[in-house]
Amino acid sequence: MAWTTLEDITIQVGRTGALSPVARLKPVTVGGVVVSNATLHNEDYIKGFDSKGNKIRDGKDIRIGDWVQVYRAGDVIPKIADTDLAKRSPGAQPYEFPTTCPECGSDAIRDEGDAVRRCTGGLICPAQAVEKLKHFVSRAAFDIDGLGAKQVEQFYADGWIAEPADIFTLQTRYGTGMQQLKNREGWGDKSAEKLFQAIEDKRKIPLSRLIFALGIRHVGEAASNLVAQHYTTWDAFEDVMAQAAPMEGAAWDDLIGVDGIGTVMAQSLVSTFAQEAERASINRLVAELTIQETARPNTDGSPIAGKTIVFTGTLEKMSRAEAKARAERLGAKVSGSVSAKTDLLVAGPGAGSKAKKAADLGIETLDEDGWLDLIAGL
Ligand SMILES: [Zn+2]
Repeated sequence: MAWTTLEDITIQVGRTGALSPVARLKPVTVGGVVVSNATLHNEDYIKGFDSKGNKIRDGKDIRIGDWVQVYRAGDVIPKIADTDLAKRSPGAQPYEFPTTCPECGSDAIRDEGDAVRRCTGGLICPAQAVEKLKHFVSRAAFDIDGLGAKQVEQFYADGWIAEPADIFTLQTRYGTGMQQLKNREGWGDKSAEKLFQAIEDKRKIPLSRLIFALGIRHVGEAASNLVAQHYTTWDAFEDVMAQAAPMEGAAWDDLIGVDGIGTVMAQSLVSTFAQEAERASINRLVAELTIQETARPNTDGSPIAGKTIVFTGTLEKMSRAEAKARAERLGAKVSGSVSAKTDLLVAGPGAGSKAKKAADLGIETLDEDGWLDLIAGL
């Protein structure tokens, strides 16, 4: 914890249009690290009252110029814990949270029950477009070598890419202009060619990665996997998005019935596909891609179908991710923690508290070789 002056409050606009207030601080050392920015969470947090009228910091609001207390919890972004009213300057005014997007000027609105104010600009909002592109190329999404957040910002600023589909037409559009890229600072013949090759390599993409890469609100990596496993092909998924648009009927019921997909996620998915501009942008992207089908879980003869498995310790013959994928393909559910619902624990060297808990609960435990024997030939 440390105290410093709050010099300014600025607003960042995220991928889903969320307006996030950032505290600009007079640099101060907190836990050995110099901190000059901290999150202020949202409008209510600054005001000192949440949306239900409950007090935050005893109802004290935060104003520019305040003497504020900063803390870091773990390695996460620093936060503001408190403000000292005794040190507030008499002229300090309550902070007025913007009701328009600072990036595109569109209205920024709050949905009922949502603490976050969001820009309604969608695709015309440059902040959302850039954040969407950064998400699109991120590791769990398209993961294109040589095309990271920095390059995306640069290409967007230069008007080379405005939406994901543009990444895949970059070389065609700049065929002769590839020279332009080669001539840029930080790019040479080799790196330019490598980039175009990396882009080509990702034209073929698994369905789950594509769904995640679209950056739809509430739809994270796990949810994208679940949806991909359930519908297996883009065509089937796309059909459901169209049929479920009225948010009722068989397709809708099927979607909200997917284990792990709730109404909020389903609404977010179908409303994204129902937006004309958004949909057109997705279509342009899909036209550039070959989307790989998701293998259906093959549970024939699987001894672990329907069972809940926990992996712990170090696996030496396959990665944790691989083990998880294998188990899921064989119809098992993989959990991160041991409970009475666990059917099997696979424990590698270094297994600690989970192995002990499983033993206490009398849960069957296998080592890695035992696990490999169990699934051998499947
Ligand atoms: Zn905006």
